[in-house]
Amino acid sequence: MEDWNEKCAIVGVYNVPNASILSYYALFAMQHRGQEASGISASNGKKIATHKQMGLVTKVFDAPTLKKLQGNSSIGHNRYSTAGEDSIDECQPIFARYSLGEMALAHNGNLTNAKEVRTRLIEDGAIFQSHLDTENIIHLIAKSPKKSLTNRIVDALEQIQGAYALVFLSRTKMFAVRDRYGLRPLSLGQITNPDGSMGYIVASETCAFDLIGATYIRDLAPGEMLVFEGAYSQHNTTPKSLQIFTPQPKFCIFEYVYFARPDSKVFGKNVYEIRKQMGIELAKEHKIQADMVIPVPDSGVAAAIGYSRESGIPFELGIIRNHYVGRTFIEPTQSARELKVKLKLNPIAAIIAGKEIIIIDDSIVRGTTSKQIIKILRQAGAKKIHLFISSPPTISPCYYGVDTPDVSELICANHSLEEVRDFIGADSLAFLSLSGLQKSIHHDDDNHQGFCQACFDGNYIIT
Ligand code: SF4
Repeated sequence: MEDWNEKCAIVGVYNVPNASILSYYALFAMQHRGQEASGISASNGKKIATHKQMGLVTKVFDAPTLKKLQGNSSIGHNRYSTAGEDSIDECQPIFARYSLGEMALAHNGNLTNAKEVRTRLIEDGAIFQSHLDTENIIHLIAKSPKKSLTNRIVDALEQIQGAYALVFLSRTKMFAVRDRYGLRPLSLGQITNPDGSMGYIVASETCAFDLIGATYIRDLAPGEMLVFEGAYSQHNTTPKSLQIFTPQPKFCIFEYVYFARPDSKVFGKNVYEIRKQMGIELAKEHKIQADMVIPVPDSGVAAAIGYSRESGIPFELGIIRNHYVGRTFIEPTQSARELKVKLKLNPIAAIIAGKEIIIIDDSIVRGTTSKQIIKILRQAGAKKIHLFISSPPTISPCYYGVDTPDVSELICANHSLEEVRDFIGADSLAFLSLSGLQKSIHHDDDNHQGFCQACFDGNYIIT
């Protein structure tokens, strides 16, 4: 996969000693959802402290920094830039002081009416510090006439449209919310403290729970808000559920195709199992003779295993990925795209030379990376190369919190299958059908209304 990036990861930890350390590990587990910047806010019941910076989680935080983020509740954020600029002002959580005290907010998603809301707020005298959609929400809460923070959050959310999974931290409470469509994932987990009391975590992906020993409870429902309180008053800390919007489930199908880690449970299902099933369905739809099936690592691995199992064609790790190519590496210029791919991926010529191979990848965006992969496989001596994609052609950009190129740059939106094959240089090219993708998820709704699949079919649920 190239050029199609999940925007963010969020986490919230409540009623756990040194909550910021758990947020740190959770953000580390979810580093794949954003590498531009990272931040944590923590409350000790009296005040909120925040630390955020550009860079990877391990670069942004060290032991002295985390020691300053004291308290039993914290929220955190990993950022991949879409809306906004790459500066510290654009990093989250966003912190604000307002009439009810202090609050911090972290957001995964994209608001579709952000411009209109911001214009209205500016006309009313608001001053913004960043280009983030998220800052709108802070202003709407601060301006709300409602008495409690809970009601102010609901009041603010009634004025915004789009995709959001949000965590709010006040000095004594935490709130977690998903939009009515549930576009971006958010799961609830439980942590047993050393004294036997219960702590809670919400996170974009359940791989965060595994690292810190939390138990998955459930996903937040679309349109649900969880209110966590009691950590600083010895009261019951069981989160209170408020269904603030009527659920209209439209989960992002691309989480299964590419974004989520395969060891996560997303929308209640294990991602690895679904990706393997996508490979099985791909083999049912496009079965040919070849010497081996190889994945584009890491995103094509599970589907290639599925394809191999269904087709009976042996699976080989024919390409090795260098995991240490960080963002600090000097990016080659456009004309050196081949070097860029070679930095990450190296074919094993001893396995590939003279063989007819099926190479499996999760998707094609611009086509330039696929073209380079085919090129290095030919240089390694492959006799014939069939590129099979375990999802349908991506023909439309995403407006719901995913960083995607303009439609003019999406190769499958502008060219026929044969033109794309010719550009990439494969001997054949095939995609999983949309119904095959839906079948892989075992979705029992005949109309497949439960998922957003706009990047595959152009049917946007919010405009
Ligand atoms: S358009 Fe695609 S990437 Fe965006 S939310 Fe819908 S399915 Fe996910």
